[in-house]
Amino acid sequence: MSEENRDIKTESASTGDSQEPRRYTRPSRPYRDGDAPRGEGDERPGKGGYKGKTAKKKVCRFCAEPLPVDYRNTRVLKSFITERAKIVPARITGTCAAHQRQLTTAVKRARTLSLLAYTSCHKM
Ligand SMILES: [Zn+2]
Repeated sequence: MSEENRDIKTESASTGDSQEPRRYTRPSRPYRDGDAPRGEGDERPGKGGYKGKTAKKKVCRFCAEPLPVDYRNTRVLKSFITERAKIVPARITGTCAAHQRQLTTAVKRARTLSLLAYTSCHKM
């Protein structure tokens, strides 16, 4: 009697162990991207941009203040290049198209005169 009992117990235990490491199954989504309801807000992630936060309005610095785009003025130009010495795109800085064009040439001129760095490897 006792032996039988033990056997059953061990069996049940073994089956329990095998069941325990269950595979994680993804919770089924209500709908796929294709048949998502469109319109009315369209609050899909990755599309909306600023979630809740109100975006600070970007203003072209060169238009706002009487500041000429000058390749010799490295203090200003440095604020428009990244740590790795890349030129920051206008969509991030808010510089207008005309001034961004002037800015890129100014940065490139400054680079040739070694006033600015080409890469982060360059030590100024
Ligand atoms: Zn401008």
